[in-house]
Amino acid sequence: MSALPPGSVIGVLGGGQLGQMLALAAAPLGFRVHVYTDRPGPATQVCPLQTVAPYEDLDALDAFAAAVDVVTCEFENVPAAAAERLAASVPVRPGPRALATCQDRVAEKTLLRELGVPTAPWGVAEGPADVARLARELGRPCILKTARMGYDGKGQARIREGTDPAAAWAEAMGHAPGVHGVVEGFVDFDCEVSVIVARGLPDAAGAVPVATYEPVRNMHAGGILRRTQAPAGVAPEVAREAVRLARTVADELDIVGLLAVEMFVEPGGSLRVNELAARPHNSGHWTQDGAVTSQFEQCVRAVCGLPLGSTARTGRTVMHNLIGDDVRDAQDWLARPGAHLHLYGKAEVRPGRKLGHVNVVQPEGS
Ligand code: ATP
Ligand code: MG
Repeated sequence: MSALPPGSVIGVLGGGQLGQMLALAAAPLGFRVHVYTDRPGPATQVCPLQTVAPYEDLDALDAFAAAVDVVTCEFENVPAAAAERLAASVPVRPGPRALATCQDRVAEKTLLRELGVPTAPWGVAEGPADVARLARELGRPCILKTARMGYDGKGQARIREGTDPAAAWAEAMGHAPGVHGVVEGFVDFDCEVSVIVARGLPDAAGAVPVATYEPVRNMHAGGILRRTQAPAGVAPEVAREAVRLARTVADELDIVGLLAVEMFVEPGGSLRVNELAARPHNSGHWTQDGAVTSQFEQCVRAVCGLPLGSTARTGRTVMHNLIGDDVRDAQDWLARPGAHLHLYGKAEVRPGRKLGHVNVVQPEGS
């Protein structure tokens, strides 16, 4: 399939920092980005082409479809109906099935089970009685999560000894009322890693180009990603298995674009997949300064049908998220050798809000 020529317009669903960084990466390749979002955000600050309208506004969606050459997503909770509406008239990459799967933990875990990819043990909860039953079956501690709309640890409640299932239900579901939940057994992991897979369009012979970034290690606090370290520093066989699992899922979902796969590494080195995201991912931000091709450029290449770039590291990178008050000292990082600052332009500083990140890159061997 042929590549989109320079001057083409990439439609991006979502107006957050991922869309901003996608737009910044698209420009040097000759593409413009048209953002569709239900509220102004970091992406609308850098994109003159923009639609600010509800995701249910069919007229706005149709006008957007007519104005762009391809559509991708930076926000995974775009209603599946919006993606399907667009897909009727313009290529949506990754497709609506990948979007629908990755925005629902039940759909995600069901697919992983079908593929034989290990996850934490889990069950569906429709109310507090299910939570109580699953806590008995899976053992405590366990975790209740909303099946949809969760991010940065929001919509989750830990169920410890003595936790009242009804109180846990109210705590987690307050984030997304009316949604079902999943209860997951607690994984006593050694560390967390993630793998980002890029897949392009098939060539004339039907071969699909695939490029995979090596696994990176993710450090969370309070359910929010704080730091990513590239490389992950896990055993080579663990890294190989992580890549194999991620590729299995990306192939099954027939991703055109990116798929990020978050995993737990257990003490013996076995892996369990935690969740999937069919878009650029916070744990891939290190690639902006620490890899030959950033995840954002790679996403643009993939969805526009261009050759994929090298995923090789150019050094050892630690990505630090700037969360809440961290942003007040952001400029201090610039005095540090190898530090690259990325601020998202969000005006309001709130606890737990991701406002930017810093990549600190050290040359290999130093
Ligand atoms: P994000 O947006 O950062 O990906 P999220 O809100 O989608 O987060 P998860 O990724 O499911 O939520 O969980 C956030 C973090 O909570 C995980 O990275 C992990 O540190 C911890 N966690 C989640 N599920 C489990 C589990 N079953 N066992 C142990 N720890 C868990
Ligand atoms: Mg996660």
